[in-house]
Amino acid sequence: MPSSEELHKRRHAAVARGVTSMVASYVDHAAGGSLHDVDGREWIDFGSGIAVTSVGNAAPRVVAAVREQVERFTHTCFMVTPYESYVAVCEQLAALTPGTFDKRAALFNSGAEAVENAVKVARHATGRQAVVVFDHAYHGRTNLTMALTAKSMPYKHRFGPFAPEVYRAPMSYPLRDGGLSGAEAAARAIDVIEKQVGAANVAAVLIEPIQGEGGFVVPAPGFLPALSAWAREAGAVFIADEVQTGFCRTGSWFACADEGVEPDLVTTAKGMAGGLPLAGVVGRAELMDAVHPGGLGGTYGGNPIACAAALAAIETMHELDLNAAAKRLEAQFMLRLTALAQGDPGIAEVRGRGAMLALELVKPGSLEPDPLRTAAVARACHAAGLLVLTCGTYANVLRFLPPLVIAEEQVARGLDILAESLLAHLPG
Ligand SMILES: *Cc1c(COP(=O)(O)O)cnc(C)c1O
Repeated sequence: MPSSEELHKRRHAAVARGVTSMVASYVDHAAGGSLHDVDGREWIDFGSGIAVTSVGNAAPRVVAAVREQVERFTHTCFMVTPYESYVAVCEQLAALTPGTFDKRAALFNSGAEAVENAVKVARHATGRQAVVVFDHAYHGRTNLTMALTAKSMPYKHRFGPFAPEVYRAPMSYPLRDGGLSGAEAAARAIDVIEKQVGAANVAAVLIEPIQGEGGFVVPAPGFLPALSAWAREAGAVFIADEVQTGFCRTGSWFACADEGVEPDLVTTAKGMAGGLPLAGVVGRAELMDAVHPGGLGGTYGGNPIACAAALAAIETMHELDLNAAAKRLEAQFMLRLTALAQGDPGIAEVRGRGAMLALELVKPGSLEPDPLRTAAVARACHAAGLLVLTCGTYANVLRFLPPLVIAEEQVARGLDILAESLLAHLPG
């Protein structure tokens, strides 16, 4: 088998430079909470392939379901010849998302595609055009979703022009907005929307209940309910982008349920299918069904192998009670992270929910972001065999997204490596 070094050379001659990898180790196999590279090294996984393998890598039920499906048929295109598993995934989406109202769903291939389609539905159903998004938002890399995403480098830089009728409102970011309450932060955002966009023009308010790539920003309590209530009043569609937060990640099926918010539409992807590419939009039947027949779809959307994997992943979430597992992980991580923060003046905040947790690093005694230390700590973790990701508008957030089936002992080992890496790179 070729070594990672050999593969890395081949990669540079074959793979576009714009597609990067966090580490230069090539994977051979993976299971549960760890990966093994082609050089025989084990990695503890605090990333889940960016919040995807929540049920664990190569989860047994998912593997069996995929095997069984791949032998029956691999693709027919649901728009040509339908099949049961697509319908069953839509039933699950309706059952698991907040709200007991009548719902419909449609399936796609990626989170970005789900977000694009939610915006299509909202515009079609309302006859309005404006889409309100927030500071630090991340919604994808396609043309419309680049416009919805906040951060220029690396996502948008020199890729314009971007789609019009996208408006950005201030986010609730307790560490950096002077500790505004949820109601105050919502009033500030609503003022921007009403004055700069006009309530009657708003097709959709689109928000991540806890921001992902933007820095694991948890809005102050009350922010989401106030925005959702405003949207209802204004006749705008409230869309929760739960691509990263959904399917047990935060200890609930969907994060907005933690604040009793019932979005009109929810977008899902990442954790829903145990690693296979699948995404969905689910929400109010009268909105989803406003779109004319043929107005939504795609060749691969709701591929039968991905649907079989999703049904098996959802069964696994029930069977192993992965919402409870996410809460246990929160407790284990929080205990250690808060202890680390107490002895480290460069850690401004420990935040997150369930198995979606983060440290924000700053220069001591200030709120000035410390992206250099963040990168150095991440590199030290990688060198010691721990996969951690960074994120944030200021690239100063270490984020933790372990598979929900990771063993307590693996987490403990990973946290030891993190502690050593923070100590080896003290704030400067
Ligand atoms: C990852 C992500 C997306 C984009 O998903 P892709 O599958 O990469 O297109 C959209 N929204 C959120 C909140 C995400 O975390």
